[in-house]
Amino acid sequence: MTMQNVGRPTRPEETQSLDAGFTSLTGGRGLLQDEALIFERDGWGKTGVDLPKVDAPADDLGELVRRSPIGLPGLSEPEAMRHYVRLSQKNHAIDLALYPLGSCTMKHNPRLNEKMARLAGFADLHPLAPLSTAQGALTLMDRLSHWLKTLTGMPAVALSPKAGAHGELCGLLAIRAAHEAKGDPRRRVLVPTSAHGTNPATAAFVGYSVTEIAQTDDGRVDLADLAAKLGPDVAAIMVTNPNTCGLFERDIIEIARLTHEAGAYFYCDGANFNAIVGRVRPGDLGVDAMHINLHKTFSTPHGGGGPGSGPVVLSAALAPFAPAPWVVHGADGLTLVEETVDAAAQAFGRMSAFHGQMGMFVRAYAYMRSHGADGLRQVAEDAVLNANYVKARLSGSMTPAFPEGPCMHEALFDDSWLEGTGVTTLDFAKAMIDEGFHPMTMYFPLVVHGAMLIEPTETESKQELDRFCEALLALAEAAKAGDVERFKGAPFLAPMRRLDETLAARKPRLTWKPDQGVAPAPLAAE
Ligand SMILES: *Cc1c(COP(=O)(O)O)cnc(C)c1O
Repeated sequence: MTMQNVGRPTRPEETQSLDAGFTSLTGGRGLLQDEALIFERDGWGKTGVDLPKVDAPADDLGELVRRSPIGLPGLSEPEAMRHYVRLSQKNHAIDLALYPLGSCTMKHNPRLNEKMARLAGFADLHPLAPLSTAQGALTLMDRLSHWLKTLTGMPAVALSPKAGAHGELCGLLAIRAAHEAKGDPRRRVLVPTSAHGTNPATAAFVGYSVTEIAQTDDGRVDLADLAAKLGPDVAAIMVTNPNTCGLFERDIIEIARLTHEAGAYFYCDGANFNAIVGRVRPGDLGVDAMHINLHKTFSTPHGGGGPGSGPVVLSAALAPFAPAPWVVHGADGLTLVEETVDAAAQAFGRMSAFHGQMGMFVRAYAYMRSHGADGLRQVAEDAVLNANYVKARLSGSMTPAFPEGPCMHEALFDDSWLEGTGVTTLDFAKAMIDEGFHPMTMYFPLVVHGAMLIEPTETESKQELDRFCEALLALAEAAKAGDVERFKGAPFLAPMRRLDETLAARKPRLTWKPDQGVAPAPLAAE
């Protein structure tokens, strides 16, 4: 098999030394064959299906007939299966091991959810099916809405946004519509320095200018700075709670009061809802709009495993501006409000062509029902307990960014403990891969130097947490003992070596081009 290295500078070097004292002759290792890109394999004329010859007369497509090859590699079914299974074995997944990415809530995706989502009545439903044939699906959307509204203490919910960032857009569009309805279009949105990048990006996308709110030494919103920056041109504040440092915003009620006093709305980034679900209702805190990542808090797959889903709950002040569609109870059962007229005349429009990620609604609802109200409360409690366990176990070797008091659902460390070792946060993260652990979120939030943000979630057992902590403690010891070589070139044992991240960012090579490999054969007809 001829293999080209263009675009793959991370392939392990042939000369890499192995414990056995030799390298494999073909690049394979441990039952995992080395893999050419799918486009580099020959067999362009091949197909996995066997269609009978057509004896129909010549087509009537005229100019529309394809003249160039379609550019899809030819693979038989077993070849296609093996290619993708091998690729999956080169990557990480929540089904392989703990996935400690802070802020991402990489929890186990229960198989019961998958079973429910595959019920034909949900899985085979067409978005344009007559509503009389989709009553079950509408009932599920209605009940999911009920649970989301109850858990957040908010009167309205828009189900259609398709991710957290899409939900932020939905929330800010509702806020913009509410200000415009009052004839008071405002210009600015306030965002704390520790915010997720999507917050300022969303505000800018909606046309607002963004002003940063400073942070206190203990990692919370600086109230005095907030008060100073609020004014008659501020449309909204966007605050994450618990925030991205893994800390509860103690002054959240006061933050809401000051915001409302200035005539602005309170957008809460609800990506971290997992830490408080069942314990705190954001509506009680004065929140006006909040997205909920079903793919975080409510266990639907993400990180390559499935589409996101980001429903947005809205306060009474913003509810009239919620986007269509939504489910209502009619004389003949459930129906959808689709048109922004009459009672829905103030709706700002819609977020997507149809109703949202139905498959994710089913999974999230299955998750809620299988836990029940008490189970969801325990989710938050266990998530916080697990994070504090990790924080306590690692604090002797690594430096917690905010040592005072407990954290919420994630434990944040800075890199001051690595000072003088010659090992960077990045090196440390890459060395974790050699130990079989996916790195935590690194260099985020930006307000903490060399941040390492660990979110274990409630779905890890104490044994798993111990194995993880012991691996990190062993690595920390190696770093402090001056074993720099182990870190600098890591990962050594992964299928792919370390990327040149600067080159990858500056000159990303995102698509494969035929001149880089085997050219597709011309169409058989030509
Ligand atoms: C994940 C996350 C988002 C964005 O959610 P997506 O579903 O990835 O678009 C926004 N804010 C915070 C704090 C997050 O963790």
